[in-house]
Amino acid sequence: MDAAEKRVHTFVRVKPTADFAQDMIKFGPDNKSIDIHIKKDAKKGVVNNRQTDWSFRLDGVLHNTSQELVYETVAEKLVSEALTGYSGTIMCYGQTGAGKTYTMTGATAEYKHRGIIPRALQQVFKATAHSVRVRISYLEIYNETLVDLLSTTTRSGTSDVPMAVVDCPQGVYVKGLSIHSVSHEEDALNLLFEGETNRAIAEHTLNKNSSRSHCIFTIYIESRFRVFSDVKCVNSKISLIDLAGSERLSKTRSEGQVLKEAMYINKSLSFLEQLIIALADPKRDHMPFRQSKLTHVLKDSLGGNCNIVLVANIRGEAAHVEETLSSLRFATRMRWITTEPVISETYDREGTVKALEKEIILLKQELALHDSLVNRSLVTYDPLTDIQKAEIKSQVHKYLKGAIDEIDKSPQSEQWIHLQPDSQGQGEGNSPSVWIPSKWKAESSQSEIFETAQLTRA
Ligand code: ADP
Ligand code: MG
Repeated sequence: MDAAEKRVHTFVRVKPTADFAQDMIKFGPDNKSIDIHIKKDAKKGVVNNRQTDWSFRLDGVLHNTSQELVYETVAEKLVSEALTGYSGTIMCYGQTGAGKTYTMTGATAEYKHRGIIPRALQQVFKATAHSVRVRISYLEIYNETLVDLLSTTTRSGTSDVPMAVVDCPQGVYVKGLSIHSVSHEEDALNLLFEGETNRAIAEHTLNKNSSRSHCIFTIYIESRFRVFSDVKCVNSKISLIDLAGSERLSKTRSEGQVLKEAMYINKSLSFLEQLIIALADPKRDHMPFRQSKLTHVLKDSLGGNCNIVLVANIRGEAAHVEETLSSLRFATRMRWITTEPVISETYDREGTVKALEKEIILLKQELALHDSLVNRSLVTYDPLTDIQKAEIKSQVHKYLKGAIDEIDKSPQSEQWIHLQPDSQGQGEGNSPSVWIPSKWKAESSQSEIFETAQLTRA
């Protein structure tokens, strides 16, 4: 991977509008930069030092771009790498109404306008073989409360057991969040739509606005394959994040419930921003992941071991230029985060033992075949049984006592033994140890054995 690939990739998607502020927003000729120009405000006094021009560099500007091309540009590579074990994260950031949900989920009514999530599921199921297990979960974070959008326990999507973000050696996970196994694209899409419905129901019953919550759709991929005798499991996940609207509190002039929501959002998005700044600073050793539920949940997804793509959704109208500026600032900050994607793999011990046992059976069959071809059908490759060992011991004992002249040449004694030269340097000088049929040991002296071994070697 080259250096460019070790950064977060950032794209800007502009929502189509008939009212595009051409004199304020200009795209670079290579479609990789945006210049913003704000006219000096005459009302703000004679001395006006406010900056009026900004230039932002990105990995791509998606303007008048179809859902299909957006997918190809921002997600296809990340998803195909997830299938080989590299986790990936795609995050949509921007003010309410700028097209985050349209980009992530898309228009559910029209297939052609489906977004990144259904397309990613399609790509995953197209590529996966039988040995791949796919699971999904759908989490919503609303006012620092975790909501399982695919909960099977209650209809409203809120489970009785409070959910919690838990750190464990393998990474973070959300305790109480249901994870569903899916074997077909259709099942996965049904769950996505079920989640969308739960999002709408919860919105209605809690009198909340969906643009006030963060949603994380996760696709977990687990593939198993054999590498020699080992059974390797490669685990990866794709986190698809639709963030809450990033508009500022001052602008919304909110009250009551809406004010509370806006405060939570502003807080969690500003914690996210603080985290992004810390992640982009190579000198920082403490990363403030635990400041909010969102940053905590995203610890693995933003932690640098995976591919990360950010889509900043902006609106092109003059009235939204402040929000556009702030989204572009966020995007360029994200661009400074470096990532070093690594494959997460584990070995399945039980599977490995089973595979080794199979291999031993096959090798034994092969040896038996080989022996029968060279007429050595009586050779056994199993370790000596206790009875065989006792038999040999007793024969050696008898031989040493002179009770027998010869050691029995029955199959039991046709074993090989490993003989080390003794300290007096039997054989010559530094003779290496030798393997000999056990009967030799009984029949000859050590020096004879080493001499014979040396002659055979010469
Ligand atoms: P957000 O999730 O950022 O609040 P939405 O995705 O809900 O915004 O978009 C607001 C409205 O604009 C929706 O009706 C959506 O269908 C429409 N929209 C957003 N982006 C596009 C686009 N690129 N092309 C067509 N319609 C869009
Ligand atoms: Mg939305």
